Amino acid sequence: AVQAVGVQKSFGSLQVLKGVDMTVMPGTVTVILGPSGSGKSTFLRLINQLETISAGTITIDGELIGFRPVTKHGEQCLQALNEKEIARQRERLGMVFQRFNLFPHKTALENVMEAPVHVAKESRSKAREEAIAELTRVGLAERLDYYPSQLSGGQQQRVAIARALAMHPEIMLFDEPTSALDPELVGEVLGVMRSLADGGMTMIVVTHEVGFAREVGDQIVFMDGGVVVEKGGPEIFDNPKEPRFKDFLNHVL
Ligand code: ATP
Ligand code: MG
Repeated sequence: AVQAVGVQKSFGSLQVLKGVDMTVMPGTVTVILGPSGSGKSTFLRLINQLETISAGTITIDGELIGFRPVTKHGEQCLQALNEKEIARQRERLGMVFQRFNLFPHKTALENVMEAPVHVAKESRSKAREEAIAELTRVGLAERLDYYPSQLSGGQQQRVAIARALAMHPEIMLFDEPTSALDPELVGEVLGVMRSLADGGMTMIVVTHEVGFAREVGDQIVFMDGGVVVEKGGPEIFDNPKEPRFKDFLNHVL
């Protein structure tokens, strides 16, 4: 499980996360909702160590993220991991962003092969085979040799998902993966995410797509002002308790 306990993050004097607790069980989908600036992206970025936590802990299957507990002069303290150790922890996670961030001068296939070849040091032939399998899984078997500029936004985002999957992550993090898409392209990306969830992938998804949250989410987390205001199963949409969550739903629905 991914477990966050009392997670805090400050940028200078701005405290963005004020003690977030969350548990994500293996094979489940957690959907994080919340207004702009509530700290959703920051929370994902802490899990993936794109930012350094200010206080609290995040563990994955009991392994502390970013630090190692050490005893100094008889006292327990935390020592930051080195870059290599952090890179190894990050290999367990795949992340998909709002902007697809594909290499523009590489084809879909080359984009997906990039990390397996250059980071995981797989042979080109094995990486190629796997990349074709991942692109097929996201419905792009016919687009292997297309460049990003020749693909729709929805297709580019599916390449980005295939690229993350090619590194065999245990957990997938999605940060508003459909927010930059034209409305008619949202469905194809959500469809790929839904089939990933059906396949048992552990997922943490920041999205404003309430329909997706309701149907695919096992756990719904509503954040506001750097704290978790309300969380529960998808039934919380039918019976929201906190006024701020009710308000939010009234605005997005
Ligand atoms: P949105 O829905 O708009 O994506 P969010 O919930 O993802 O919002 P975050 O991006 O986590 O919110 O940002 C939370 C707050 O932290 C914002 O006030 C933002 O300006 C601030 N913030 C985020 N990253 C940084 C940074 N690197 N330096 C300074 N402030 C930051
Ligand atoms: Mg964000």
